[in-house]
Amino acid sequence: DLGSSLRGTLDKLRGKSRISEEDVEEVVKEIQRSLLSADVDVSLVMELSDSIKTRALEEEPPSGTPARDFVLRIVYEELVDLIGESTDLPLEEQTILLAGLQGSGKTTTSAKMAWWFSTKGLQPAVIQTDTFRPGAYDQAKQMCERAEVDFYGDPDGEDPVQIARDGLEATSDADVHIVDTAGRHALEDDLIAEIEQINDVVQPDTSLLVLDAAIGQGAKDQAQQFDESIGIDGVAITKLDGTAKGGGALTAVDQTDSSIAFLGTGEEVEDVERFEPEGFISRLLGMGDLGQLAERVERAMEQTQVEEEDWDPEDMLTGQFTLNDMQKQMEAMNNMGPLDQVMDMIPGFGGGIKDQLPDDAMDVTQDRMRTFEYIMDSMTDTEKEYPRAIGASQIERIARGSGTSEEEVRELLQQFKMMERTIKQFQGMGSEQEMQRMMK
Ligand code: GDP
Ligand code: MG
Repeated sequence: DLGSSLRGTLDKLRGKSRISEEDVEEVVKEIQRSLLSADVDVSLVMELSDSIKTRALEEEPPSGTPARDFVLRIVYEELVDLIGESTDLPLEEQTILLAGLQGSGKTTTSAKMAWWFSTKGLQPAVIQTDTFRPGAYDQAKQMCERAEVDFYGDPDGEDPVQIARDGLEATSDADVHIVDTAGRHALEDDLIAEIEQINDVVQPDTSLLVLDAAIGQGAKDQAQQFDESIGIDGVAITKLDGTAKGGGALTAVDQTDSSIAFLGTGEEVEDVERFEPEGFISRLLGMGDLGQLAERVERAMEQTQVEEEDWDPEDMLTGQFTLNDMQKQMEAMNNMGPLDQVMDMIPGFGGGIKDQLPDDAMDVTQDRMRTFEYIMDSMTDTEKEYPRAIGASQIERIARGSGTSEEEVRELLQQFKMMERTIKQFQGMGSEQEMQRMMK
């Protein structure tokens, strides 16, 4: 499924601390596929991918953040930005009007919302104004009985506006009034005229557009029409217990500049959830733990800040360089970002000097670091202090003891030599600069 292929693409970034343009392209392509198959509007998907691409390439990952988590966080943030928080519904006296096409789930949602408000200690009432659909009255009445909330309707009524007016009066004891309306199969003029009149009478605090999760690209027109006629403050998405992911809601939210209020997840009155972005986005992308990941990145960022305080890059320039130092420094690099940035933190090492360094002098992936750690655990203290003295038989022993290959042990020693050379170069440059400063 799509979620797993997105996950696969992201997993390829595992262990990388930097992200290439191709990496970003690949991730964005997968996200596009996920979103399009979740019925998110094409132009929205394009807008989103552009901002994800730009941010992933231009923003510097917070030091210590693996590329994979960094990209995921951007994706998550951009989606949260688009979807927004749940529609504000204060737990107090209010009137809510539901609009939407026939079969979208208005009547079910009105009973569900009433049930939800009743669990918050409020006294809700549903007013059913649908005179168009046969059986609408009975259906609403039964659902409200199941939800154990007040209900008003007129089985013989013919004027929905009059029913709305009477309903508000008849249920004046209630503190939350939820007004259910009739739908049509399509956006017809009489439907719009009717809901505008009801809107005038009811004067709702909040008007919600009820959308079937399977709505897809049709969401735009509906959202626009209802928004123009009565003003849409929020969206309720129904039938999320099916296979549809509800991407059309994003279109509606974007079109009406509103937010999502409720999610319907079944036919019973209790099958309702207040919207929260994390779960919805995870579902949209087919990744169950996206919010958790975003949180983890945040924690990693906080942690890194602490570690940065503990480590002074200037330590690198003094004294004998050993494998223990290398390990500490590799860890620090991993937490603080690429070498050239670390160099900027050292007084006297900005500008041209760092350009003379080999690009990958100290860039080590986290996978490689882990292997290096195993290897070093199998070394004696003397070996770590004097790595240059390690010979072939020792390499064989270390490889066996650490469960790595002799080749990997040699790589570690190679890396050590390279770093040692770099450090010496630095030390030389540092003192040269020092001299120049003193001579001025
Ligand atoms: P209305 O015409 O907009 O009032 O829509 P209804 O409330 O009558 O719902 C139309 C159909 O969708 C009914 O059969 C409902 O039981 C069903 N329905 C509504 N919401 C949900 C939901 O969240 N999940 C499922 N599975 N069915 C739903
Ligand atoms: Mg209905």
